[in-house]
Amino acid sequence: MSKIERENLRVVAEKAILAGVQLPRAYIDLEDPFSELRALAQTAGAEIVGELLQKRQKPRGRTYIGRGKVQELADLVKLTRATLVIFDNDLSPAQVKALEEGTECKIIDRSELILDIFANRAATHAAKLQVEIAQLEYTYPRLRAMWDHLGQIVGGAPVGIGTRGPGEKQLEIDRRLVQRRRQQLRGELVTIQKRKAREVAQRNLGHYTVGAVGYTNAGKSSLFNRATAGGAFAHDKLFATLSTRTERWDLGGGNAAMLSDTVGFIRDLPHQLVASFRSTLEEIVHAQLILVVLDVVDPHAEMQLETVSRTLDELGATAQPRVLVLNKIDRLQDSRDLLVWMNRYPEAMPISALKGEGIDELAEIVLEHMLGGIREVRVTMPASETKTIDFLEKRTEVLERDYRNGQAAFRVRMGRRHVDQLLAQGTKMQINGLDPLEAVRREWSLPRPASVLGARAPATRKR
Ligand code: GDP
Ligand code: MG
Repeated sequence: MSKIERENLRVVAEKAILAGVQLPRAYIDLEDPFSELRALAQTAGAEIVGELLQKRQKPRGRTYIGRGKVQELADLVKLTRATLVIFDNDLSPAQVKALEEGTECKIIDRSELILDIFANRAATHAAKLQVEIAQLEYTYPRLRAMWDHLGQIVGGAPVGIGTRGPGEKQLEIDRRLVQRRRQQLRGELVTIQKRKAREVAQRNLGHYTVGAVGYTNAGKSSLFNRATAGGAFAHDKLFATLSTRTERWDLGGGNAAMLSDTVGFIRDLPHQLVASFRSTLEEIVHAQLILVVLDVVDPHAEMQLETVSRTLDELGATAQPRVLVLNKIDRLQDSRDLLVWMNRYPEAMPISALKGEGIDELAEIVLEHMLGGIREVRVTMPASETKTIDFLEKRTEVLERDYRNGQAAFRVRMGRRHVDQLLAQGTKMQINGLDPLEAVRREWSLPRPASVLGARAPATRKR
């Protein structure tokens, strides 16, 4: 058997087969048991060339799947020329070894796939550190076991990374090195998280930021691709440091927000991976609006919504409004199912990211939040205030313009944020005949549009 490289477990651009055992009472989509693993593998950048599922009462010890299935998998690997098999279940190092021998193909399990995604998304130093910690805790012991096993195969000679040989003593030393490295990483993290908060604050000055969160497979990336033109801002310096994908969302009328796609929540996340998962979510804490994307056909949608809401609270993402996005309405068999959701969350926005339904309406909701409430008002200023006039023409909906005696009077639909922006550039306007600040007090004093996930005022909801 050819030696299989396990030191480099990158998934991107690999031809991959999805494999797994469906156990009774497993937490999966019965219609499409691989839907989550597929979304994860695609996120990691793999090309999926085959799928193989076995139903069993319990896993079969040495290879997890049955002997016949191992052969079937080996045949499928040959047929599809796959370079990687991704298991939906978590495997022990011994099982990985047995499967690699049986299929002559590299095998990774679900947690290794997730770690690979985190490693790829980890653009910030902080996120990279989190991933390294997770790798130390999860992957390292597995690699150790692999090296030991390889050592036995070639008769005890040192193999694998460097000249590290198997043996109790070496293991002891490694364990202490790992401990020390972990402490060092944790220390670095604290410093970096502080700097990052400053970076994000600066970015929010110039842009309105919207973050999409939800479980894997909910349709966040589909929504992201629908909403953003794609690519336009990918190389913007300001955003290059972010661990999440962020692009421009044109909301119409010259207004745009920056939408961030996150890795997403993952069911049954191994505890070693929780911290790195959270670091991928850190952006969200600083977003000015959060879209909670839910797959309404998922039988666990209700529980997922609870988990997402609780985690956001725990991360401290409590200052900004949240909008509940009910996705995949095209898959609902019975329209009454949607009514149940809408009754419970009347402010939720039903959409189909796949069909493009409801995206424009969602953009309007985002715009309403962004502008802080749109009001029809009369703005007056000297006709020489060209900067203000220019702004009104470009950024607000102008219903009427009237120039006379060196004065300009505009009837416009504008948001509170527009007023702030104009004030920041030193305008000489009046709104409804009043000083702008007084007008804001009168016109915009009503509460902002209610957020869907409840009137969770930050102070009262903090745990
Ligand atoms: P993410 O993991 O949240 O980013 O989810 P993806 O956007 O990758 O979508 C996961 C799967 O759900 C993909 O196969 C999508 O094609 C599918 N999907 C997303 N939105 C919809 C939708 O509105 N309707 C249907 N039927 N499928 C959708
Ligand atoms: Mg995605």
